[in-house]
Amino acid sequence: MILVLEKGLGQHGEQEVLLKLEKLGVSAQLGRLYTDTVIVIESDVSTRPTHIFSQIDGVAKVLRIGQSYPKVLEQKDSSVKLERVVIGGGAKPIIIAGPCSVEGLEQLLTLADGVKSSGAQVLRGGAFKPRTSPYEFCGLQEAGLAYLKEASKLTGLPVVSEVMSEKQIEAAHDYVDVFQIGARNMYNYELLKEVGRTKKPVLLKRALSATIDEFLYAAEYVMLGGNNQIILCERGIRTFETKTRNTLDLSAVPVLKSMTKLPVIIDPSHATGKRSLVRSMSRAAIACGADGLMLEVHNNPSKSISDAEQAISVEELALINSDLEALYSTLQSLDVKAKSQGKTKFPIEGQLVLSGTAIS
Ligand code: PEP
Ligand code: MN
Repeated sequence: MILVLEKGLGQHGEQEVLLKLEKLGVSAQLGRLYTDTVIVIESDVSTRPTHIFSQIDGVAKVLRIGQSYPKVLEQKDSSVKLERVVIGGGAKPIIIAGPCSVEGLEQLLTLADGVKSSGAQVLRGGAFKPRTSPYEFCGLQEAGLAYLKEASKLTGLPVVSEVMSEKQIEAAHDYVDVFQIGARNMYNYELLKEVGRTKKPVLLKRALSATIDEFLYAAEYVMLGGNNQIILCERGIRTFETKTRNTLDLSAVPVLKSMTKLPVIIDPSHATGKRSLVRSMSRAAIACGADGLMLEVHNNPSKSISDAEQAISVEELALINSDLEALYSTLQSLDVKAKSQGKTKFPIEGQLVLSGTAIS
């Protein structure tokens, strides 16, 4: 962190600032930057609030360098393990599949069986549905959770389902293996802190208008409570384009992977909103290094109660799964070849973006 001092503060004023910093327990050095007098904070203050520095008399500006989300960036091994299923950390990409909404027990059990035999390792299904209109189907609620648990028991597939409030976290706790935070709630900081206090993995979806910085700040909120098991999910962002439901930002995969070790998956269903586009974007997602896919699959896609236009069949899921197998082995041979030639393996790991944010 760098503190830019007010102009004309003088030696006495500068010493006052240094004294206050000493009282805060941070070590600091005075320096000159062209026409500015600055104080370079040498201690790690990444988790201390900016205002404690900006409120010191004589400080004109606080510059935070890098580490805006230290817990996210410092994660070492961050693959998420759901019993035998490993997501991220270089493991083979996984598929999370299931209906947009749980519609009934029969429907879910048949579908769970279908997605399992078509190659999915994790079952998804919404019990609490965030709907743009309150007059649309809002999910089967607690009954939906019970059906998910039943499907999980019968198939052995771990289950992911969305929660939107503290009450729903409690309700879902014993029924799901992963809490999903949907795109609409990525900015709900209280909810993020609440799932962060649980011991279950969190599938965090990028908000419709979130920058990658904001996405990672949201992950940092989850980590505040001690929960490091986060799966980041890019599900399309809102742009001026109308031919697709959203615009799939595939570049988010290598960018996120260059910044953090957290697993990154792609949801081509919500990104495109069209079943005819799901397979090509799934291929692209695997090709650019995603750790998995989240796909909306239905027994009778066009009759899906929610998001019918983007639902695919189990047969289509099986095709995507065989694409994944083929692409994964191609990518692996490319990596082996690159390694033998001493070239860089993709995606490039390490810090890509070192940005300073000015807070005045
Ligand atoms: C979902 O996955 O069920 C969902 C509602 O997605 P999103 O939050 O990305 O819109
Ligand atoms: Mn949906």
